[in-house]
Amino acid sequence: MIQILVSENSMHMHVSREHHPENPERIVRVISALKRHGIRYELHDAGGMDIGEALSIARRIHSRGYIDKILMLSKKAPLNIDQDTYLSSDTLTLALETLYTSYLMALNLGRDIVFYIARPPGHHAGYRGKTRRAYTQGFCIFNNAVAAVHGLIDRGFKNIGVLDFDAHYGNGSMELLYTSRILQVDLHQDTRSLPVFPWNPSEIGAGDGYGYKIGIPLEPGTGDDSFVQVLGIVKRIIEKYNPEALVVSAGFDGFIGDGLTDLVLTEYSYYRIGYMIQSLGTPVIIVLEGGYSRGLDKGLIAFIHGLTGARVAYEPGRSLQGGIARINLARANKIISRVEKYIV
Ligand SMILES: [Zn+2]
Repeated sequence: MIQILVSENSMHMHVSREHHPENPERIVRVISALKRHGIRYELHDAGGMDIGEALSIARRIHSRGYIDKILMLSKKAPLNIDQDTYLSSDTLTLALETLYTSYLMALNLGRDIVFYIARPPGHHAGYRGKTRRAYTQGFCIFNNAVAAVHGLIDRGFKNIGVLDFDAHYGNGSMELLYTSRILQVDLHQDTRSLPVFPWNPSEIGAGDGYGYKIGIPLEPGTGDDSFVQVLGIVKRIIEKYNPEALVVSAGFDGFIGDGLTDLVLTEYSYYRIGYMIQSLGTPVIIVLEGGYSRGLDKGLIAFIHGLTGARVAYEPGRSLQGGIARINLARANKIISRVEKYIV
């Protein structure tokens, strides 16, 4: 069963003074699209949230210094904490709500697929906020996907997988789980062409996590045919690891014309990701990362169609991909061949 929960507060809280792509309209847009397609969802209101409990989850993930900084800066809001990331007077409340709800949903996860549609996003938020070498926190305050991982750990799961298909590299999630034996697979536009959150292919984890951290860079201009080819490799590696549960960082900014990246994916790719995820047959918790315009109307809906396992006839976009597909496939195979022996 698929449960779709939309955060009510995300539709009006955490607002930038100037125009910003990460804004409440994103969630309003998602709701309109869900309605248009007749997809059932529930509005989630975290009224009565225990702030102390929520902060204790944030403290398990982020450094004391960073949490103290956010608490202190929140009193002075509105302000920007870096060139991309803003705090308004109610950001702390919403960011804690999204973090804590991600945790609780994972903690209470049954055999279902739960998609929690909320903001702000989280996968760029590392231990001290901004990760090593990154230029910004990329609109993120607390790491919601990692909160969900903690929920699954507390639920008693040992083999936990994380899949991040936002078009930006999920550097915060990677940093936070770098030494744990949690399989992380991150599909993203090559950080040499999208350099805000750099990634180095030699970084495959450390300690217990060695070999379990997989970044797969995609060339700018990557479209459906190449993406789906790489997705086949991703499926194989996740199946080998055989997770008891999966956390998904779902970003739709690789959709053609969404605005912030150079991937040119269409509904077809997002449908296929959703379909692949449900085909694993594991419990899944999905949190929203990026997606700023068309990705939210079109990519997100196709993704949900895929999650239902229904056969929907999306057609792949026009193939322009010969050279790009070869580069993507060769890189993905090289990276997987390096880590495959460690993954059991
Ligand atoms: Zn993104």
